[in-house]
Amino acid sequence: MDRINDIKIAEYFSLYEFECPCCKRVMLSPDLLARLNHLRRVINRPIYINSGYRCPEENHKVGGVPGSYHLLGMAVDIHVKDFLLYDLLIYAREIGFKGIGYYEKSNFLHLDIRSGEKRVWKGNK
Ligand SMILES: [Zn+2]
Ligand SMILES: [Zn+2]
Repeated sequence: MDRINDIKIAEYFSLYEFECPCCKRVMLSPDLLARLNHLRRVINRPIYINSGYRCPEENHKVGGVPGSYHLLGMAVDIHVKDFLLYDLLIYAREIGFKGIGYYEKSNFLHLDIRSGEKRVWKGNK
């Protein structure tokens, strides 16, 4: 049987990678996808998506902030094996992600395409 959302949507990504883990629903900004695909091409290494779209229940369960960009299909949390997280941050900033969370302990970046002011922060997770 075909897996739901098993649809290639960009050179390096399929839709299921962005779906909510609890319900398989998904929203995805084309701009977010284009930038992520660009980042993937530039670093030439697989990007693993820890968290893409979240429905409100899932966002609550994982302790996401209310109004999180994950609820809007405008954010991803990613990690890349054997790649310095700080270098990944530099590339992501160059590619134009507007919100960047740097989570050194858990080795992942939050990336979003919020409108307005750029914001980079260091997370505690
Ligand atoms: Zn869900
Ligand atoms: Zn996030």
